[in-house]
Amino acid sequence: MAKLILIAIALWLIIIVLKRYRKGMDQQEGASGKERQPTESMVQCAYCGVHIPESDSLKARGHHFCCQAHMDAPEDVNDN
Ligand SMILES: [Zn+2]
Repeated sequence: MAKLILIAIALWLIIIVLKRYRKGMDQQEGASGKERQPTESMVQCAYCGVHIPESDSLKARGHHFCCQAHMDAPEDVNDN
């Protein structure tokens, strides 16, 4: 009999926790009215291979570069 009471209390606690959790979720959704920022696509510097956000990259000759120096650098850098 004591086991039944314990189970009932446990279920009751679970229900209360779930209700609170749901309420918290609703409040969070309501509070954050702004849209999620889309994740910016990353591009790779054609010279050194470093990954940078597309808006921070420099575009030239159909490639992305991390900085002006790499943009101005000759393309065939691996030629020794
Ligand atoms: Zn670079």
